[in-house]
Amino acid sequence: QGKAAEASSSSKKPIIIIVIGMAGSGKTTLMHRLVAHVQESGKRGYVLNLDPAVTNLPYGANIDIRDTVKYKNVMKEYGLGPNGGILTSLNLFATKFDEVVGLVEKRAPELDYVLVDTPGQIEIFTWSASGAIITEAFASTFPTVVTYVVDTPRSTSPVTFMSNMLYACGILYKTRLPLMLAFNKTDITQHQFAVEWMEDFEKFQDAVESDKSYNANLSRSLCLVLDEFYQNLRKVGVSAISGAGMKEFFETVDACGQDY
Ligand code: GDP
Ligand code: MG
Repeated sequence: QGKAAEASSSSKKPIIIIVIGMAGSGKTTLMHRLVAHVQESGKRGYVLNLDPAVTNLPYGANIDIRDTVKYKNVMKEYGLGPNGGILTSLNLFATKFDEVVGLVEKRAPELDYVLVDTPGQIEIFTWSASGAIITEAFASTFPTVVTYVVDTPRSTSPVTFMSNMLYACGILYKTRLPLMLAFNKTDITQHQFAVEWMEDFEKFQDAVESDKSYNANLSRSLCLVLDEFYQNLRKVGVSAISGAGMKEFFETVDACGQDY
């Protein structure tokens, strides 16, 4: 009974999708699209907004940090600027995160996906204790996948692409969770160039080295590091605006969930 019961109960667990990415990469817009797709495909989703500073949330959230902490009040109360206000709001929310996980656990048997939006500024989530606490709380209870949203049109320069990928690599190291890249805004720029760079080491190295303003030895070493990083990395092209790539997105999530 033990193993079978375990297997059937664990297969009922929803997959947590934590959406991370640089400010403006399109996390919130993509969330909106993902939530709509989950509904349209007859799956059951649960939606969390962890951005205390968002003014217009285009999707309905089951749990919204803004209901618990008012970031403008936090700024005033603690004498902080906007970034400090957002960070402190997230810290305050993190102290109660076990309650959030409890709520999700109660609903777990009837859920397929839990979608989590994070603050606009990436480092507030990735370089804070509260981001780590929230990620850990989920990951210790449910299969959890990190989706790193890439602003594709803004990553076409080899050097920008490289820095973006090194950042993603850092996230993999910090979270130690299955990571997938979502190349967003493919309605503006197709992500084919990125796929080519990721799959053909020499193409990427040539592209990076064509920019002579950087130290060639360092560039070469970084390319090698990234080549290794790409080996086990899943990627998908999406457009939050047009809705392209949604089916592939969830296929990739499911594959990552298997890795968990
Ligand atoms: P966030 O800061 O990562 O949450 O980014 P937002 O979702 O707020 O989006 C930032 C900007 O990018 C907005 O102006 C969006 O309309 C735009 N955007 C987001 N996704 C797409 C996309 O797939 N295609 C295009 N063309 N624009 C997008
Ligand atoms: Mg946002």
